[in-house]
Amino acid sequence: MEPVRQLENEHLGYSDTPKLASGYTVHDGTRPQMPVVDAQPDQVPSDAVVLFDGRSLEGWRNVNNGEACGWQLREDGAMEVVPGVGDIQTEKEFGSMQLHVEFMSPVVVKGQGQGRGNSGVFLMGRYEIQVLDNYENPTYPDGTVGGIYGQTPPLVNPIRKPGEWNEYDILWKAPEFNGEDLVSPAVVTVLLNGVVQHHAVTLKGPTEHKVLPGYKAHPAKGPLKLQDHGDLVRFRNIWVREL
Ligand code: MG
Repeated sequence: MEPVRQLENEHLGYSDTPKLASGYTVHDGTRPQMPVVDAQPDQVPSDAVVLFDGRSLEGWRNVNNGEACGWQLREDGAMEVVPGVGDIQTEKEFGSMQLHVEFMSPVVVKGQGQGRGNSGVFLMGRYEIQVLDNYENPTYPDGTVGGIYGQTPPLVNPIRKPGEWNEYDILWKAPEFNGEDLVSPAVVTVLLNGVVQHHAVTLKGPTEHKVLPGYKAHPAKGPLKLQDHGDLVRFRNIWVREL
């Protein structure tokens, strides 16, 4: 089908050039212009959906009982796990997205391996990117901070010291299903503190513990879930851009 051309923009490009598979020509000036995003240093992009801005826990639910999330809202604009309360998740649901999350490992260091500063960012409520205090604290590689838990270790470990903020930037391509069949798997790119940990890595299925992962059809969107693993991990400045 021929694309809808914005002929008033014809002067922006060329029409005497070869045609691409999209139906547009090379350097076609009539392609739709893209939305403008205001993106200032240390500011949330203007088209992002803010999930946590430090002022309220509204929009987050306790996974166990569906009621108010029950984590602690701190005066410094962070939320902190309240051990035993359970995982929390957003009321809003997302498929493919760009996600920004900041987290801090507990200031008082205790435990080791998976028992130190453990939490997790669950994309679509199912796929965990590990949160762990891996500062001078080794563990099994596919459980390292930034790991696709139980599947793929990150390329590197750029975690900061306990008490310092870390920044995740995650690009998520949701899996696609046709009925019960997997059409295309999930793909993720993860940066921690600006350093690439995964570059377009394919997931083998939702996160599992001690068993092999495998896909089962699920809805096209899911909530963002944060894990209560019993440690006083803090989060702040959480936003997504749906893709
Ligand atoms: Mg975890």
